[in-house]
Amino acid sequence: MARFLPRPDVALREGYHSPQVDVEVRLNTNESPLAPPAGFVDALADAVRTVAWHRYPDRLARELRGRLADLHGVAPEQVFVANGSNEVLQTLSLAYGGPGRSIALFEPTYAMHSQIARVCGATVAEGRRGEDLALDLAEVRRVVAERRPAITYLCSPNNPTGMVETPETVAEVLGLVAEVPGLLVVDEAYAQFAPWSAAELLDEDAPLVVTRTYSKTWSMAAARLGYLLAPSWVVAELDKVVLPYHLDALKQLAGTIALDFLDDMETRVSYLTEERGRVDAALRDLPCQVWPSSANFILFRPLDRDADAVWQALVDRSVLVRNCSGWPGLSGCLRVTIGTRDEDDRFLDALREVLS
Ligand code: PMP
Repeated sequence: MARFLPRPDVALREGYHSPQVDVEVRLNTNESPLAPPAGFVDALADAVRTVAWHRYPDRLARELRGRLADLHGVAPEQVFVANGSNEVLQTLSLAYGGPGRSIALFEPTYAMHSQIARVCGATVAEGRRGEDLALDLAEVRRVVAERRPAITYLCSPNNPTGMVETPETVAEVLGLVAEVPGLLVVDEAYAQFAPWSAAELLDEDAPLVVTRTYSKTWSMAAARLGYLLAPSWVVAELDKVVLPYHLDALKQLAGTIALDFLDDMETRVSYLTEERGRVDAALRDLPCQVWPSSANFILFRPLDRDADAVWQALVDRSVLVRNCSGWPGLSGCLRVTIGTRDEDDRFLDALREVLS
């Protein structure tokens, strides 16, 4: 029987794959290496009994939005919450992208920006970063002027390079985007590891959206919870597009309870930031090109070595990092997530052995 095919543009796509290999040291998906605080797990376990399981959850997740609004000093109407920041990005694309519209991004960057844009039927207006992988403002001006994108993405700190954009850069791109007009979406999945946040530039009159996740600093990748901060007129459109009751009751509670553990989260960020400094210094002592990172991962390129072979040799030593060498502009590159001190030592010892 001839199989019925999906939309041709979907049939051509490969999907998003991050190999889930069974190893002892997993440093490939930028998760937190630390489990959430025990107090969080206990409080969540107690909260399970309070859920009215026979009822639909609060469709607007008002308590969670209110608490996030307090955390960021914005109004609850300026917060939208969904199942991971990927769903936040998808909802933005559904509302503002789609057929007949284009979405600008600057490669190499987070692969899901283009994937989600295409799945939603938009055209991707792809710009390139400079040779050093830094954002090139002249290229941003060119792409925005030529393609007049509905959405322009910045990712700060950028995955996979770890580089952060300055307030001046974000403000300049925001000015360009506002003229088109369009939205500037700054993906800040790793913001807590960076020196500043574009959330400082939020304003009801500025077409700026900042996305965040619980997956990294909040040690809650398993919960699938993300959110955005934006002008209320953007959030109102997203509420129209998203599926009814998309955010289950338990997840709403998990997100709210996590906010009671802000100090623990900040301690974890400090620990990982210190570890990042240690891993960065150790990588610079090896024959590797290393990019400065403001996130919880580091991009590096082993010199004069085949990156696929280095990646495999690390896997053979039960250490999994991300092989980015096949990604556009990243030939020979690997990306390592910052883990616990022990995990990072395992990685560094294995890499020293492989490169010796
Ligand atoms: N944005 C960036 C830049 C990311 O790296 C990731 C996760 N790898 C996400 C968004 C998605 O995160 P979430 O788990 O919240 O869907």
